[in-house]
Amino acid sequence: MGLRRTIRIGGIVQGVGFRPFVHRTAAEHRLGGWANNGVDGVTVCVEGAPDDVRRFTRDLAERPPPLAVIDSFDYTDEPVDVPAAGFRIRPSDPEGRRRALVPADTHLCGPCLTELFDPADRRHRYPLINCTDCGPRFSIILDVPYDRPLTTMAPFPMCADCQAEYDSVTDRRYHAQPNACPVCGPRVRLADHDRVPLTGGDPVEAAAALLRDGLVVAVQAHGGYQLVVDAADNKAVARLRKRKDRGNKPFAVLVADVGEVRRYARVSDAEADLLCSPARPIVLLRAHPDAPLSVQVAPGLGVLGVMLPSTPLQHLLLASGFPVLVATSGNAPGEPMARTAESARRDLGRICDAYLEHDRRIHSRVDDSIARVVPLAGGPRPQLVRRARGYVPRPVRPPFDLPPVLAVGAELKNTACYGSGRRLVLTQHLGDLGTERTRSFFDSAVAHLGRLLEVDPVAVAHDLHPDFHGTRWAARSGLRTIAVQHHHAHLASCLVDNGVDEPAIGVVFDGTGLGEDGTIWGGEFLVGDYVSARRRGHLSTFRLPGGDRAVREPDRVALALLHAAYGREAADLPLAAVRDRDPFERDVLLRMCERGVGAPVTSSAGRLFDGFGALLGVCRSVGYDAEAAIRLEEVLGGDHTPVPPWPVRVDDVGGLQVVDVRPWVRAVVDELATTPVPVLSRRFHSSLAAAIGEVCGRLRRETGLGVVALSGGVFLNQYLSVRVDAELTAAGFRVLHHGAIPPSDGGIAAGQAVIAGARLRAEAR
Ligand SMILES: [Zn+2]
Ligand SMILES: [Zn+2]
Repeated sequence: MGLRRTIRIGGIVQGVGFRPFVHRTAAEHRLGGWANNGVDGVTVCVEGAPDDVRRFTRDLAERPPPLAVIDSFDYTDEPVDVPAAGFRIRPSDPEGRRRALVPADTHLCGPCLTELFDPADRRHRYPLINCTDCGPRFSIILDVPYDRPLTTMAPFPMCADCQAEYDSVTDRRYHAQPNACPVCGPRVRLADHDRVPLTGGDPVEAAAALLRDGLVVAVQAHGGYQLVVDAADNKAVARLRKRKDRGNKPFAVLVADVGEVRRYARVSDAEADLLCSPARPIVLLRAHPDAPLSVQVAPGLGVLGVMLPSTPLQHLLLASGFPVLVATSGNAPGEPMARTAESARRDLGRICDAYLEHDRRIHSRVDDSIARVVPLAGGPRPQLVRRARGYVPRPVRPPFDLPPVLAVGAELKNTACYGSGRRLVLTQHLGDLGTERTRSFFDSAVAHLGRLLEVDPVAVAHDLHPDFHGTRWAARSGLRTIAVQHHHAHLASCLVDNGVDEPAIGVVFDGTGLGEDGTIWGGEFLVGDYVSARRRGHLSTFRLPGGDRAVREPDRVALALLHAAYGREAADLPLAAVRDRDPFERDVLLRMCERGVGAPVTSSAGRLFDGFGALLGVCRSVGYDAEAAIRLEEVLGGDHTPVPPWPVRVDDVGGLQVVDVRPWVRAVVDELATTPVPVLSRRFHSSLAAAIGEVCGRLRRETGLGVVALSGGVFLNQYLSVRVDAELTAAGFRVLHHGAIPPSDGGIAAGQAVIAGARLRAEAR
């Protein structure tokens, strides 16, 4: 008696070599049957001895191909008298192929890497080598179904050898849509600004020679152009920094393997896994102080962004004699990354000296992703900081079925998100929507992803802020609009990131978000679920003299905090933040705080960090987003040892728990002359963590809720995340941190989408 088992597998299982894998595995277990691409994934039917069928099932679920993402797996059994012999792949269901998820771009796999450096292989040193398990996907796909004619590989007919690989079910390149070789595929060239080739020989060797001379080369990667220089060459890195008008903002570096990375930074097991994961994100690591690296790479910072190569071209460049290269996004300031040869000339012409590029066009721009590991007491927690290449368009699974919705995110670090059924799919990181070109990137990315997913939204979720691009876009869309408060969206994004579907306390600390009362929120305690949330507490408020200017000049925030704590007497305090300002200007700013003219009220935790950074003198002006918060954490040197907090005072103001930050301002003023800055910074962090613990405790007593979700860009501060986690866990809370969805505004669209879905669902009941 045999067993026939019909298995349905959903997720990213098409275009990733799943059927050949099934074919091989069935042969290993001596099973007959068939497989095909169906409506929601792959259907497999096998027949044979019951034990073989069970072992086959286990292998299928536990050892899928590297690019596959299984999000559902179920089967039905029936007895058969005589099991079928032979296994075949049945023709695909055309409707099913349209609904299949598109895979993300993936790093060069091991077997391809071996071939790349094998002089006997026909693809030896071919910079566009790939296979079913690796290579570009999302970035080259024009439309679904995912087939070569609908990718930017369409202009390259395969040669007989490539075609034979493509057609053979036992070949690693079976149905590998970007399959190519030096005979039939795209060519790499090293060219100048006028697109004239600079060499007739090996373009990679010629580019390496330029890098050795300290020059800047723009290199085409999966999702756009990167600017590359020798990271050990001080002059070269300084030149890039100056030409790119980069200020002190750190550069990421490219290193060949984890062993090499250990020369530059500390790498835990979890960090090594993240570095080697198929997406190959930039991983934020703690740098060795004496790393053999130009000081210009990350001036004054102990954190280093490192990635392993994802394209064959990057492997070849590193192998031509560079242990470490700077690889930073090739974009004009504030603009999206260059994607075409034309836009590279326009945007990078003044920055780079040559272009190492090829004619496999990039259809969708995808920046490098950024990730890190938060060392929580309960175990290391990988967390995305910027979600883009390698992660898009992987879905996140909401805990209930969503109607088709679109969410347009916030204004800064924007992403958009589609929801439908049990899928939330975020766009790649789109950037700050302050320029015409970033807005048009937003428009095209939203349209493209909607087409790939074939989601026809019934509603658009947007922020409360009337001036955001997304809010206007939603109003023009002709669809029903659903406004979602910024911090509620953060709370929901953290809940859905953890698959939680119950009410929770949300601690949402970020820079800016419009509150329901029309003021700027950012240090918020919410209680709610996917449908609604109520503000139940916040940090005490202070003024932002000059509004947006206070965001760029933390000294203004320091003055405002001093004004909140001391009133007019702030002008007489013996502090650098007071003394160093022109007395006339200082008095104007203090008057603005006093009268509230041109000085909006805020409860922003991000601004509080800015203000303390300025008070402690670690960051008096901000060159890049969150610089003060980063530098305030930096002085702790990655040491997470707690210290006793300053006194924590929480007042019940009309039912709202308000954390008074003024005692901490006074403590800094009293202790600054006698206490080292790192100690004060540590106390500031500890005080904030203790205050969060106190407020959550009160809210638990009022509501009975024991789950706390931590969200908002301020939780990119590791020390704060670790301290708050320890504090709340010790008090018996279940603490939720972000993982696949960034805690910053880059994750807000996922929260908006799931809130819109939950509200529509509640209405329909
Ligand atoms: Zn491969
Ligand atoms: Zn070929």
